[in-house]
Amino acid sequence: ALIITDECINCDVCEPECPNEAISQGEEIYEINPSKCTECVGHYDTPQCVEVCPVDCIPKDPDHVENHDQLYQKYLQLSQA
Ligand code: SF4
Ligand code: SF4
Repeated sequence: ALIITDECINCDVCEPECPNEAISQGEEIYEINPSKCTECVGHYDTPQCVEVCPVDCIPKDPDHVENHDQLYQKYLQLSQA
């Protein structure tokens, strides 16, 4: 999963781009639900939130490191729900 850092300026452009609805407005900044973020695997070749973020504040989440296969399995599970 990816994570939004405190450099987020709450510009709101990433939220509608997420194919998994993993992004929501938190108390201070936008947040990514790691159980829903597939790093866009299954939907796009690149993370769409990273593509649109103007301040480049969405790195990989060091607490939720996943390989491509794990991300694809998550995508399959989410698409069944
Ligand atoms: Fe959503 Fe993709 Fe960003 Fe994860 S990487 S939060 S799935 S847009
Ligand atoms: Fe924050 Fe970047 Fe999303 Fe804008 S696009 S709300 S700056 S994470």
